[in-house]
Amino acid sequence: MNTPSRITHLVAGKSWEGTAERTSPVFNPATGEQTGVLDLASADLVGEVVAGAKEAWSNEWGSISLTKRTQVLFKFRQLLDERKEEIAALITAEHGKVLSDALGEVTRGLEVAEFACGIPHLMKGGFTENASTKVDVYSIRQSLGVVAVISPFNFPAMVPMWFIPVAIATGNAVVLKPSEKDPSAAIAIAKLWTEAGLPDGVMNVVNGDKEAVDALLTHPDVKAVSFVGSTPIAKYVYETGTAHGKRVQALGGAKNHMIVLPDADLDLAADAAVNAGFGSAGERCMAISALVAVEPIADDLIARITDRMGRLVTGDGTRACDMGPLVTKQHRDKVASYLDAGVAEGATLVVDGREGEVDAEGEGYFLKPTLFDHVTPDMSLYQDEIFGPVLSVLRVKTYDEALALINANPYGNGTAIFTNDGGAARRFQNEVEVGMIGINVPIPVPMAYYSFGGWKNSLFGDTHAHGMEGVHFFTRGKVVTSRWLDPSHGGLELGFPQNG
Ligand code: NAD
Repeated sequence: MNTPSRITHLVAGKSWEGTAERTSPVFNPATGEQTGVLDLASADLVGEVVAGAKEAWSNEWGSISLTKRTQVLFKFRQLLDERKEEIAALITAEHGKVLSDALGEVTRGLEVAEFACGIPHLMKGGFTENASTKVDVYSIRQSLGVVAVISPFNFPAMVPMWFIPVAIATGNAVVLKPSEKDPSAAIAIAKLWTEAGLPDGVMNVVNGDKEAVDALLTHPDVKAVSFVGSTPIAKYVYETGTAHGKRVQALGGAKNHMIVLPDADLDLAADAAVNAGFGSAGERCMAISALVAVEPIADDLIARITDRMGRLVTGDGTRACDMGPLVTKQHRDKVASYLDAGVAEGATLVVDGREGEVDAEGEGYFLKPTLFDHVTPDMSLYQDEIFGPVLSVLRVKTYDEALALINANPYGNGTAIFTNDGGAARRFQNEVEVGMIGINVPIPVPMAYYSFGGWKNSLFGDTHAHGMEGVHFFTRGKVVTSRWLDPSHGGLELGFPQNG
């Protein structure tokens, strides 16, 4: 067994040299081995980091030219592209997802950096000449100051990257608090900013748990908080952050449904259900966990899915496997407990993920893909976000019944419909109360130049991540009305000005 290595904060471009009062273990979920000891930040340390970030913003970054900002962004983009394999390996070592999936995640993050390279265009305001005689009006957008990003374990690189390039490009300083379960990829990416020429103090990482999060949420110099994680914590972050005067976007959990209509291509739908149900061991916020089969196709669809599940290899993500382990032992055991609960509540266990071999050494946190049929809305299998490789099939008789099921669900992150009927798909996109919709696409993945986020209990706040909504979130608007002295104007007029 190797000695676990120390993982620490990144403050003003350098690894923190202090001594942590509290630490937390980091594991390789494929082997069960402890690989790291993570320093947890105290509230005092968070305060020091925020103060340093504020100084870096007010001294330099908040007012630096767009040309200089974009030079850093282009260089960062190049460095991340060159190191993406390295970062992917860090993700697999701490999260467990297979290497190709980890690489895909880094690439998605890279796309946000590419989007942010266009910041001179994205920051352009409007200009109106002669709004009134010889009076011009224009709008500008300015940075906020220090912003905090708090991210979940399931996309340790991509989720921080949803926000950080846009926050930096718009002139803010950032304090990132990554998940304590798999922090190394985010720290490695944060170091690339320094290498790209970003002034010290503009990008910082504090590792920690509730103490660090609470310190960020209540600190008067943190002006905005971008959070992604489970619904109860997202709600807490939104309520606490806004009560302390911050703007907050808090993306929460999900229960994503995929409807299959009787006219759908069932092979396409079966491929999609397996890919979206079990990719990244079901630990994606856009994973499909509820498959809604509109009869009479359920038996046929389940047979095709079961056949495909038999071909999947589960194991160590560094090997040629389709699916890796779950992130921690506790999470693996919790997900596995739903298998007993599902049977006890009357669902039919079609494929039991506790059976069969995995391709790994050691004591990894594995649960193979699992399929339930005859799941009903009152069962815990349906009601909870399980966040594991457990796919539940619900059988309904009509499209309307399927739609009503989705719209009654408290989550509204992602959903998909499989059909060959364009009219039905169009109705669905119009009627469904969900933020991200796939039509014959199971996981409508985030595109950097659109904004990403859900509805209902999947988002607290009103601003989605990246795209133009991201640019707006990290900036404040001003409108300037200007008149340059002209002899024809002037004189006293106490009434409210009217355009003329
Ligand atoms: P989590 O809520 O446990 O943790 C998220 C972050 O909050 C972490 O940084 C964690 O340290 C911090 N945190 C945890 N407990 C806290 C507390 N009591 N007080 C303050 N901070 C706390 O989420 P997770 O398990 O890391 O991630 C999985 C969840 O994230 C799932 O619910 C998934 O659906 C969701 N998610 C949503 C999206 C989306 O786009 N909506 C994207 C990715 C993940």
